[in-house]
Amino acid sequence: MTRITIYNEFVHEQTDEAVREVYPQGIHEAIASFLRGDDVQVRCFTLDTVEGITDEVLDSTDVMIWWGHLRHHLVPDEVAQRVKDAVNKGMGIIFLHSGHHSKPFRLLMGTSCNLTWREDGDMERIWNVCPSHPIAQGIGRYFELPHVETYGEPFGIPQPDEVVFIGWYEGGEVFRSGCTFHRENGRIFYFQPGHETFPIFYDPNVQTIIRNAVAWAKPVYRIPVLEAPHVVRPGQE
Ligand code: ZN
Repeated sequence: MTRITIYNEFVHEQTDEAVREVYPQGIHEAIASFLRGDDVQVRCFTLDTVEGITDEVLDSTDVMIWWGHLRHHLVPDEVAQRVKDAVNKGMGIIFLHSGHHSKPFRLLMGTSCNLTWREDGDMERIWNVCPSHPIAQGIGRYFELPHVETYGEPFGIPQPDEVVFIGWYEGGEVFRSGCTFHRENGRIFYFQPGHETFPIFYDPNVQTIIRNAVAWAKPVYRIPVLEAPHVVRPGQE
């Protein structure tokens, strides 16, 4: 059983007709619908219910998926801290697209996470630069998304543990579009595609990558509390 918790801000889909047309049930439902299965449970939270992301919810989450954009500042600091602590204990997490500026991502990275961006509907060619990586399985040498929001370097993240995908855009920019990080016991994947006005979460390659990332980030070990154990000599435990 894999237990997934999705947070989606869910503001654009209610305030912007162009976004509602693409994601009538919200981005969270678009993602949940290709992840749900006999062996996969999915719970969703939105900005309206963000306080519901409690320690109990996080303790019973294998992998969290985070999509946010213009209302990052309205996510309470306590929730962001809980998410960070849960990752350190072993929960996996996937940050999508503009989640690069979310409070939990910035807390986990410890850097600005700034980037350059342009909204011209460029085509993105996503190169698979780590074909042996579990997240890249089923993905060819590259695939293309006909319209995306362009994100450009420099991307203000710490050096990733692995760069799995590099995006190239018609305008000439490149971006580290798929990066992994480890924080204490937890695994983190950042994935750049996912702008709200384009049907990116219906793309089969994007769905494969998110499914693979869930499997990769699912914890193999969790510690119950984030406390420093006292020092005991080996053999005297
Ligand atoms: Zn965007």
